Amino acid sequence: MRPRVCVIGAGVGTLVATGLARHGVEVVLVDEHAGILRGASANGLARLHLGYHYAGDHEFAHQAENTAQRCVAGTLAWLRRYPEVAPRPGRWWQLITDDSMTSPEAYLAFCRRLGEHQASLAAADPAALAVLGPAQDAARVLDPADYAPHVRPGRVLLGVETRERIVDLGSLRATLERELRELPGVTLRFGRRVRAVEPRPKVGGSIVELTDGERVGADAVVNCTWHDLDRLQPLGGAGTPPMSTRLRVVACAESPPALRRVPSMFFHRGVLGNHTLFDDGPMRFVSEPVCNLATSPGAGVPESWRALLLAPEDPVRWLEALAAALTPATADAAAVSQRPPALDALAAQVVTLARRAPAAAGAAIHDAVAEAVVAGYASLVPAVRAVRHVRLLPTVTTDLGEADLYDPTGSAHRRDWWTRCDEHGTITVYPGKFTFGVLAAEDAVERALRHLGRPTTPAGRVPEAVPVG
Ligand SMILES: Cc1cc2nc3c(=O)[nH]c(=O)nc-3n(C[C@H](O)[C@H](O)[C@H](O)COP(=O)(O)OP(=O)(O)OC[C@H]3O[C@@H](n4cnc5c(N)ncnc54)[C@H](O)[C@@H]3O)c2cc1C
Repeated sequence: MRPRVCVIGAGVGTLVATGLARHGVEVVLVDEHAGILRGASANGLARLHLGYHYAGDHEFAHQAENTAQRCVAGTLAWLRRYPEVAPRPGRWWQLITDDSMTSPEAYLAFCRRLGEHQASLAAADPAALAVLGPAQDAARVLDPADYAPHVRPGRVLLGVETRERIVDLGSLRATLERELRELPGVTLRFGRRVRAVEPRPKVGGSIVELTDGERVGADAVVNCTWHDLDRLQPLGGAGTPPMSTRLRVVACAESPPALRRVPSMFFHRGVLGNHTLFDDGPMRFVSEPVCNLATSPGAGVPESWRALLLAPEDPVRWLEALAAALTPATADAAAVSQRPPALDALAAQVVTLARRAPAAAGAAIHDAVAEAVVAGYASLVPAVRAVRHVRLLPTVTTDLGEADLYDPTGSAHRRDWWTRCDEHGTITVYPGKFTFGVLAAEDAVERALRHLGRPTTPAGRVPEAVPVG
């Protein structure tokens, strides 16, 4: 009989599901959304990182040991496995402002090291060269005249253009949906939430309980739930780092014509904001002092935020979720005392606007937050003031440690991924970034196969994947 694995969470978990199915394992993939890639993986800034975002993690090593190196490894792994994830090189401006935690000199030194690292990979592997391009093109120092018309005068001390790709979620989703349909032994359970994972008596493995009462028996379980990691399975214990959760919004709008001519932008470790420009016109942008609405310890979100993640088109959910995230009565007192002034202003607006009828109040609160994000980001990129019909995407970041964006040594400036397997065969997957998703998924597949006693190669790697179709 084929072993059965229940994979919970259809973001990076989709890669785990297809990876296991390719190895002849029966897979049940569960998600409370109505389909794959609808959670944090769909609502971020869609950047397949090549490391330039993470100058805060200094040590370069031969192996992929700092955040920037992990980003390069993750991007190469994605493009090797799913070239459609981001088919074209992108264009980004990395901008160092007068309040950046990284000086222009330190950033240039960092870019040199990252370029050397990329060049060493490209010299050893033609596939890496095809993605990374020639070393001299990797990071180009900009003439201030290039960016001056597009950023607030006087703030930017250094601009560097890089070639990171933008994720094409539509084409990735289509490929993964096809794989799920064509691979044998895959069962999908969408629109259902997992309530609990319990050890299965006598036979081993686990029982996965869904909210509709279904109980799925599995020889192993892979928990890829991102914002629910801690809830389904308390994370404490040896080898598991402490975590924290940020409730976040991302603004989404048709980009103003003035911004379509220039690359996406990232304001590096200071005033904190960035935007991603998609080929067909839309942009996503964040002003970090506004968009990070609340932070709490552990990996878990309030019920009202979960309800919003599932139905962001419902204004009543905005009312409930933003009231819970922002108002002092429900927010953690210590966190409230440290939060940026923009959030205090929004919290006061929530209290006033909440007096209206629920749907009108929710719509007004959504728009008030959207306006604050526009105002925050326009203080860096004035053209963004011209955007109309801004829609907010609710999302969540789970961080290693206590994420303090304003602490130069804080974990938000260094990212990693991990997986672990407990004695019942429950494998927890923390991808850290979408860019690390394939690395984390491949590691989880390997752990699951090992737990199931399936063959792995002597080096501990799973055998080469069998192509679908
Ligand atoms: C604002 C923002 C911007 C980002 N930008 C980038 C970027 O540009 N590049 C990058 O590499 N990374 C980025 N990230 C990080 C990236 O989005 C995440 O690291 C990655 O998507 C996490 O993948 P995941 O599969 O673990 O989570 P998800 O994609 O959220 O998948 C988890 C799934 O589990 C489901 N689930 C949860 N609990 C349950 C349950 N109990 N029962 C059933 N289903 C459940 C959810 O519905 C969800 O679909 C960004 C994150 C944020 C918040």
